[in-house]
Amino acid sequence: MSEPLNLVVGAGFSGAVIANLIAEKLNQKVLVIDKKDHIAGNCYDYRDNNGIMIHKYGSHIFHTQSEKVWNFISQFGDFNQYMHKVYAVIDGIETTIPFNFNTLYNVFPKTLAKRLEKKLLERFEYNKKIPILEFLKQDDADLKFLADYVYEKVFLHYTAKQWGVSPDDVDGAVTARVPVYLSKDDRYFQDKYQGIPLNGYTKLVEKMLNHPNVEVCLNTDFREFKNEADKKGKEFAKVFYTGAIDEYFDYEFGALPYRSVNFKFEEHNREFYQQNSVVNYPCNYDFTRIHEYKYYLNDKSDKTVIAKEYSEFFEIGKNERYYPIPKGENTALYEKYLSKAKELKNLYFLGRLGDYKYYDMDKAILRALELFDEVRNA
Ligand code: FAD
Ligand code: UDP
Repeated sequence: MSEPLNLVVGAGFSGAVIANLIAEKLNQKVLVIDKKDHIAGNCYDYRDNNGIMIHKYGSHIFHTQSEKVWNFISQFGDFNQYMHKVYAVIDGIETTIPFNFNTLYNVFPKTLAKRLEKKLLERFEYNKKIPILEFLKQDDADLKFLADYVYEKVFLHYTAKQWGVSPDDVDGAVTARVPVYLSKDDRYFQDKYQGIPLNGYTKLVEKMLNHPNVEVCLNTDFREFKNEADKKGKEFAKVFYTGAIDEYFDYEFGALPYRSVNFKFEEHNREFYQQNSVVNYPCNYDFTRIHEYKYYLNDKSDKTVIAKEYSEFFEIGKNERYYPIPKGENTALYEKYLSKAKELKNLYFLGRLGDYKYYDMDKAILRALELFDEVRNA
């Protein structure tokens, strides 16, 4: 390869976007390494032998308000017009979440639901989204009853399963992702652009990386690779690191905490297992939710594949990092690593692990697009 050669660590969305831009816009060479045996990171999907597109690391639904992100991603593949809904079983009643006026009528007798609806509309504007921790601050007895109900039946146990703590002990932004929604819109996201890539996420990433200036090496861990490269005196113009920032610095200030996830897959000899792609269990069972994959691309098969999602603490060497844990003390620890990173020239951290941020796909892509602009103009 001719110079300059850049290194991208991680072939997930963050790494693939930055690699594509350097290759395409700067016409520079890029080597992308990933320790996994596949590209696309946590967005990896594949068709199984029933022809069902499986999201190996849990359901991934693309949604964004950003035209910049949508225009970028759309270059690499078409999307369907899937609009995500999430069902939840609350005390045996199947309903939708976020908790909205339809949920209200599903879980309460009609007269009570009517009274609560009237009070809500007297107090708040139709279509308002209210984070649960804010919604709890009600002085009216009926609305306080409702807020306590939603807190307990939707958030309390689910959050305990997902994060190992109560909703009051995770950053408010986490539960605010699923607000109480004063509307009859049952969709999980209201973003302008949403859908599932018709050929899957892996193909999108493959297309981003399919460039004459890009070389991809799988099954390659950064640490071992770096030792070898140093021995050979190999240097990189710039390094973009989408792995965990604390790992990069050998946990010098202590390990950043993460949640991990364990997916238990099941194949069933029937057309459908449940009524919807995702069903949450906020009141029962040890798993948080069940994913049924054939819904996303309307895959036809006599069989179906589901995954039950169990959340657990991340432990080095035991499982994988899935969720950074947004919380003051963790952010403070991350910022120590960030200050150290800023002292190093031509090394950039990005992505869910590099930035220690609870990014959805669109936010990870936007971050990579913006970092590229920064680096290009520096
Ligand atoms: P990753 O996808 O984690 O990629 C990082 C890559 O770096 C990995 O491939 C890893 O193997 C590699 N790597 C790490 N360390 C090293 C090393 N030392 N050496 C070599 N390689 C290394 N977002 C949405 O928008 N919609 C959703 O519905 C959605 N659902 C989700 C469900 C779950 C269960 C999870 C966990 C996430 C979900 N997300 C969703 C978020 C989405 O997965 C992330 O935004 C996206 O994957 C971030 O991409 P990334 O490239 O930053 O990180
Ligand atoms: N949440 C909850 N009950 C639900 C759905 C979500 O308590 O039925 C809370 C929980 O704390 C969760 C957070 O809202 O971690 C964000 O949910 P989201 O579905 O956005 O999480 P993700 O898909 O990223 O796992």
